[in-house]
Amino acid sequence: MNEAPHLTFDLDTTGVSTGHLVVPKGADCEALSLPVFSCNRGKGPRLLITGGNHGDELEGPIVARRLVEWLPEAQKCGRIIIVPEINPLAVQAWTRNTPIDGKNLNRVFPGRSDGSVSERIADAISRLLLPMVDTIFDLHSFGPTWNFPPAVITHPIADVDLMTKTLRISEAFKLPVTLLWEHNDTAGMFDTWAHSQGKIFICAEFGGGTVGAEALAIYEAGVRNGLIALGLVEGKAEYPTFREQKSGQTLETNPSDQLKSPAPGIFEPRCSVLDEVKQGDLIGILHPMESLSADSIDIRAPTTSIVCGIRSGGYVQGNEEVASLARPLAL
Ligand SMILES: [Zn+2]
Repeated sequence: MNEAPHLTFDLDTTGVSTGHLVVPKGADCEALSLPVFSCNRGKGPRLLITGGNHGDELEGPIVARRLVEWLPEAQKCGRIIIVPEINPLAVQAWTRNTPIDGKNLNRVFPGRSDGSVSERIADAISRLLLPMVDTIFDLHSFGPTWNFPPAVITHPIADVDLMTKTLRISEAFKLPVTLLWEHNDTAGMFDTWAHSQGKIFICAEFGGGTVGAEALAIYEAGVRNGLIALGLVEGKAEYPTFREQKSGQTLETNPSDQLKSPAPGIFEPRCSVLDEVKQGDLIGILHPMESLSADSIDIRAPTTSIVCGIRSGGYVQGNEEVASLARPLAL
């Protein structure tokens, strides 16, 4: 019989401690040992910070590791648990999905103890870490194929009280965008599972093509603001500078705001994130590759909106998302 998922140390230990979360071996691979940091300062909010859910989104693991350096000094109360890379196999491969089973870790929660490796990781987190906390910061980014402003994203939550609390903490990150994103593919997501357990779940996103120093500084400032809002660290929250501005806006987007490519081809962006566009404005151009005489296809804004995300990686298939539009949240 396989061993059960377990921690190599006691999370109730006072002060700073480190160890591993052991994900048992299965038919597809050996056991995994995920490094875990814990800082337990007694009464107060209980927070789990995770990075590396998707392996090609490396801002999260880097910022999580920075937190491990300064939190022991800065944390005043409560409990913070950090797992910088919850999917080390995908991080090592620099792929979104886990290479061994091809699964998206963020679609298999709460996981299965007898499942494939992604499902076993989700099971270990769901069983051993989630019950220890009230709030989760899951640090994502948009990966190498999108431009996306620094943002905190949440999906609509049926529980009004949880929705209100989640939006309040999301806005406290003071990133340029807080986005309420309605979409149809939320089964098995870490946040969907955490919501079902009554937890506040904050999903930070940042997409800029590649990991860079400026993006990391903004990302870290946002997470620090979130920690201040929870009362875990002291300090004054400030908007980080993004494109020479210090401000934030709360937007909403739904499935009809996702613009898709009308055909396969090379996508040429003609606008930038946070641009305001009117109905009919040019968002981008699709270049079919069959011949030089094939007409390129204009992709235009269907309504007045704000460009929230735009594809930055060249070739797209037909019906693939190339831009994400949004509008100010109407409460
Ligand atoms: Zn992600």
